[in-house]
Amino acid sequence: MAASPEPLSVDGLSALAAELSEDELGIQAQVRRFVRERFLPRIGRLFAEERFPLDLAPELAALGLLGASLSGYGCAGLSTVQYGLMLQELEYGDSGLRSFVSVQGSLAMYGIHAFGSEEQKQRYLPAMARGELIGCFGLTEPDSGSDPASLRTTARRSGSDYVLHGSKMWITNAPIAGVALVWAKLEGQGAESIQGFLVERGTAGFETPRIHDKLSLRASDTGQLVLDGCRVPESQRLPGAQGLRAPLACLHQARLGISWGATGAAKACFESTVQYLCQRQQFGVPLAQKQLVQAALVDMASEIVKADLLSLHFSRQQDRARQGAGPRLRPEQVSLCKRNNVAMALEVARRCRGLLGANGILLEYPAMRHLMNLESVYTYEGTHEIHTLVLGKALTGQSAF
Ligand SMILES: Cc1cc2nc3c(=O)[nH]c(=O)nc-3n(C[C@H](O)[C@H](O)[C@H](O)COP(=O)(O)OP(=O)(O)OC[C@H]3O[C@@H](n4cnc5c(N)ncnc54)[C@H](O)[C@@H]3O)c2cc1C
Repeated sequence: MAASPEPLSVDGLSALAAELSEDELGIQAQVRRFVRERFLPRIGRLFAEERFPLDLAPELAALGLLGASLSGYGCAGLSTVQYGLMLQELEYGDSGLRSFVSVQGSLAMYGIHAFGSEEQKQRYLPAMARGELIGCFGLTEPDSGSDPASLRTTARRSGSDYVLHGSKMWITNAPIAGVALVWAKLEGQGAESIQGFLVERGTAGFETPRIHDKLSLRASDTGQLVLDGCRVPESQRLPGAQGLRAPLACLHQARLGISWGATGAAKACFESTVQYLCQRQQFGVPLAQKQLVQAALVDMASEIVKADLLSLHFSRQQDRARQGAGPRLRPEQVSLCKRNNVAMALEVARRCRGLLGANGILLEYPAMRHLMNLESVYTYEGTHEIHTLVLGKALTGQSAF
């Protein structure tokens, strides 16, 4: 049988486009063009040099990507599906690019939008939506990761100010952020006292050292937040945030986007690998003619299609809920989506790397870069294991944490 001249893409197989509106398709096409023309030609170098392309922030802002799902304050007010499609295109480029946008919009801006005073929203959100002010979200600490209730950073009341002590670790955008949303306990109190503070760069006692030599998310700036007697006025405390519920709400907001993003990384690996296998000749024929190779591709395509449908299903549910037309998305549903899609993408990246043979270890091909990136995505925003425990608890009523 003659080979088909035009291989069917994963998107063609899923026919996802048939489920999308004109608006959704338009937004997807815009971000796809931006990533392929403006970002992909640079990513190899950026990854090698461990550098995030901050110069692209105004273009990301012009596409409405910063705080995209928020309304007012210069934000685009997009639906969950529109935002998810954009993030998928970004992570087709690199998880570092998507992480920048997720942290800026879904963690830092969302935290201010949901829990900030009107004055705080006016002061920060429009500048953040324009990409002129970069934000970061500081929850994790050297000794507090999966169990954020154990965080040790403290806020001590001093007159009308708070004095912050502690350090945050693994904070995306920290070295380039103009404002950090820092989560701290009131001194001498427990997790129920957790508060959010907006700490601006330049505040005395506040440093953001960069973390070097990461083997993952190299095109993303990661750092620490060091708070050594850092004094902030009461006006920098988020008045609506009380207890762990507040930072967890921010993370819940971001996770569905990560599910979309991971599938973008998987598609990038898959498409480039199919292209390679159709060209690469061994034993006198293209490797794509080999049954074992086709079986691997079919397994991967099936998983990518299922992951896309999962993201779309839960995002539509979230959009109906936002319009008051359906039940709210349960945290367990978001856990299911993040856990499944990220593990799927990691497995796809690893299998694609193998199918590329030795060439698969080169930066020239995206599989190994995505594979390394996805190791971080597997760990952040709730590790794979923590989401397993969330689901296990929901399904049995028994906590195994
Ligand atoms: C590149 C990168 C960027 C990040 N960006 C941010 C950011 O912007 N802001 C922020 O606040 N944080 C950020 N993080 C931190 C991230 O959220 C944490 O790494 C994550 O929550 C896990 O914490 P940990 O690394 O301390 O691992 P630990 O909590 O120490 O866990 C280690 C291992 O033990 C497992 N484990 C933990 N508890 C249990 C249990 N009860 N049962 C079974 N297994 C368990 C975990 O799943 C994991 O496999 C980032 C991390 C990375 C790698």
